[in-house]
Amino acid sequence: MSSLKRFLLHGVYRNRNAANLIIRSTSAKRYTNTAVANSGVKCWNCGSDINNPIFKCSSCGKLQDCRDHKDVDFFKLLEVAPRFEVNASELSRKFRQLQSQVHPDKFAGKDDEREKENSIDWSTLLNKAYKTLSVPLPRGEYMLRNKLPDKDEEGKTIRSQAFLAEMMEKNEEVDEADTKSELEKLLDVTDVDINKMLEELRTAFENKDFRNAKDILEKMKFLYSLKNGIKLKLESMLSE
Ligand SMILES: [Zn+2]
Repeated sequence: MSSLKRFLLHGVYRNRNAANLIIRSTSAKRYTNTAVANSGVKCWNCGSDINNPIFKCSSCGKLQDCRDHKDVDFFKLLEVAPRFEVNASELSRKFRQLQSQVHPDKFAGKDDEREKENSIDWSTLLNKAYKTLSVPLPRGEYMLRNKLPDKDEEGKTIRSQAFLAEMMEKNEEVDEADTKSELEKLLDVTDVDINKMLEELRTAFENKDFRNAKDILEKMKFLYSLKNGIKLKLESMLSE
């Protein structure tokens, strides 16, 4: 292993500027748990470089403009590794920790209108990032952005006729089920299928097999919709 690779893998940066130069020069998208890489943005208040954290200027402490970072990677923003498999409690902890730093309540009493506006923007962006990454389907779709050619976006069709036939059959089973236990059984089976697919999806992302990941995501939409249908029918049955 080269010393550069070892250096990057271990993520121990004694000199952050040097590390940022190396990351940029190799144009590699590497995750660092020291959050967002150098953005080249300067503080609107004092003109200092904004490196890390990106919310606040380390010189004057002012809350920075969110619009300079609106394209920030959600995984980087929430300081979690860019993998399909996320640790839900870690993600939630990071989200709450970051949200508490920028929450509008904290800036409500301040005179600075720009900071107040920025806190709303940051808070909104963090919510959006958390909503996207905490749920498997939007997380998978987010991970696929820019990964497949545009024409792929248009051809959103499930290739497997067998899968579609299976889904139709399952939908009929739900329609025909008229007892609580039948529906609960169908719900269990659907959950097993969803978990199996989540596992396949994790593997596809690990192997950078984005075409396959997209197929699995499309299939999962059917399964989640099936699950939703079962739950709704169960609820209406219980309320009768
Ligand atoms: Zn500043």
